[in-house]
Parts: sequence; structure tokens; C-alpha cells
Amino acid sequence: MEYRRLGKAGIKVSELSLGSWLTFGNQLDVANVKACMREAFNHGVNFFDNAEAYANGLSESLMGLALKEYRRTDLVISTKIFWGGNGPNDRGLSRKHILEGTWESLKRLQLDYVDLIFCHRPDPETPIEETVLAMDYVIRNGLAMYWGTSEWSAEQIEAAHKAAKELNCIPPTMEQPQYNMFVREKVEKEFKPLYEKYGLGLTTWSPLASGLLTGKYNNGIPEDSRLAKFKSLAERMKENGLLSDENIEKVKKLSNIAKDLGASMPQLALAWLLKNPNVSTVITGASRVEQVKENMKAVEVKEKLTEDIMQEIEKILNNKPE
Ligand code: NDP
Repeated sequence: MEYRRLGKAGIKVSELSLGSWLTFGNQLDVANVKACMREAFNHGVNFFDNAEAYANGLSESLMGLALKEYRRTDLVISTKIFWGGNGPNDRGLSRKHILEGTWESLKRLQLDYVDLIFCHRPDPETPIEETVLAMDYVIRNGLAMYWGTSEWSAEQIEAAHKAAKELNCIPPTMEQPQYNMFVREKVEKEFKPLYEKYGLGLTTWSPLASGLLTGKYNNGIPEDSRLAKFKSLAERMKENGLLSDENIEKVKKLSNIAKDLGASMPQLALAWLLKNPNVSTVITGASRVEQVKENMKAVEVKEKLTEDIMQEIEKILNNKPE
């Protein structure tokens, strides 16, 4: 397992990490959370991702129980603040919700601090200066080490840097965007100027497009799968064109490349992401230990992805952002 710097920051994250969205507290109980985290850790994973919104806080509580088995300094733990409940001040990026949300998250995680804290979405109803000042407070008071954004536009990230400079505040270090073989625009095009200019680090999500890139949806939706369990997600993925016949045809073609390499389709899809040097860590997700085991082997498959094979993949994908 390679450890990469989070952009230009000094902290190092494992190139593959493990997240908890839809799994911890929904599909995984505490025993299985512990087992998945242990499997990932034994493969060299040091970064575990969470959010106040996941399973309405239960995901953080379960991770908190699992964390007791580790030395704190061996781990990089994140959470994200934005959706903390239904009250008018339970959501968004006001100073009030950032601080209250962070305190509550830390209680559930049973930690004094998280390493990374993200603004889970942009908040058009809070001035950027207020959010930047609140995050600066969070860092300077030791509640988190680094702050970042998730699913913000390049323009919004630039605005945060500008405000931080003017206010003498700590600027954001990292962004958490979706990135997989079918969703490439932000990481490969929109954010391009930010890597050099600000040393932006990336912790990327949904590397398998919720499982689409495993090939499990090639012949419909199997009963024991994410899209069968979370029907509104399946609907959303149909609406935004991710779950389409065209993409499934591509997965079928990519599977042949995986086979030739002696790899599985999920391993190929993860290894392909690891080839991008602007990605600090690829956050994987898993509903069972066997998936963690399989996915971690992507670091070996990465070594097999020569220029020629990358070109072959590009030809099949045919979606490189111009
Ligand atoms: P993926 O796109 O990789 O989807 C993971 C799911 O795919 C698993 O839960 C499992 O679902 C299936 N799967 C994974 N590996 C395999 C395998 N080897 N074989 C068969 N099926 C497999 O990642 P996620 O969408 O889960 O995202 C990863 C993490 O990113 C999240 O946990 C979260 O921490 C973060 N995230 C952040 C977001 C943000 O807004 N910042 C948004 C979304 C995620 P199943 O078995 O149930 O079919």
C-alpha cells in the first residue's frame, strides 16, 4: 500500500481507504464494521471516512466502538458536516451548525479530534467568510487537523481560499468529489488549475459507481445488492444516466481487460483510479469483508496497468474530459 500526501499537506493517507456510507449501521452491525475495518487496516489502510449524516449518526457511533482497538496515531479519521438533523440550525455551514455538528460527531466517535473535517456540500445560505472563520476555529482549537470541502465547484473552492487569505484564516486542504470511470469531469478537468495553485488534495468517492463497475448489474439488479436495497439511489442513477445500457456495455468490455490481467472488474476499476497522481486516496465501500479483501488487491493490479492498457481502457470508456 502506498501512502500519499494529501495534496501539498504533510499528512499521509493510504492510497485506498474505507468509507461507511450506506454500509455502517445499515448493512453492517458492530461486529461486521469491526471486521471490515480490521481487514482494511491489515492491508495497510490508515484512513477511514465518515459523516454526521451517515445512518443518522449511527455510522459514527459504530466506528467509534471499532476505533477503541487501535492506536489513535496510526489512523486518519474524517467526518463531514452539513446534514445533522431536521431543525433549521441542524444543517448547513453556519458557525452554529459547524461547531455543534462537530462536537456531536466527536462524541459519537468518542474522539478528541478528527484528522479531516469536510463541509459536506456548499451552503448558499451562509456567507463563505462565516464558514471559513468557523473552520479556522475548529482547526485552531484542535477539533480537527485539516478542513476541506465535498462536492464544491472549483469556483467555490477558490472563494474559500480568497476569504481565508483576507481573514488570515487556515484555507481548505482537500476536496471530496465523486470520481470513477464514468464520472470524470471535476477531477480531470474542472479542478486541474487547483492542484498546483493551492496544492489541493483529493479523497474521492464512489469508485465503483455504487457497484455498477463491479459488473454485478450487467444482467439486472440482483436481490442482495445496494441498488435493490436503496431503490431511490437506483432511480437517481437511472435519471442521471449512470445506470444505462451504454455504461453496462462498457463494463462488459472492460471485464475482458480485467480477465486478461488476472484481475476482477472491481480491482481494475479501482486500480485505474490509483493511476491518477492527483488522487490522494480512493475511498472504497464494502457491504462485507470479502469485498474489502478483493478490493485491497487493486494496489497490485495498478502495477499491471501499462500505457497500452490505459489506452485500451480509454478507447472503451470514450469519455475523457476535453
Ligand atoms: P463504491 O462505488 O465502491 O460502492 C460500494 C458498494 O459496491 C459496496 O457497498 C457494495 O455494495 C459494492 N461492492 C464494493 N466492492 C465490491 C466487490 N468487490 N464486489 C461486489 N460488490 C462490491 O463506493 P461508495 O459509493 O460506497 O463510496 C465509498 C465511500 O465514499 C463511502 O463509504 C463514503 O465514505 C464516501 N462517499 C462520500 C460522499 C460525499 O458526498 N462526500 C458520497 C458517497 C460516498 P453491495 O454489496 O451492497 O451491492
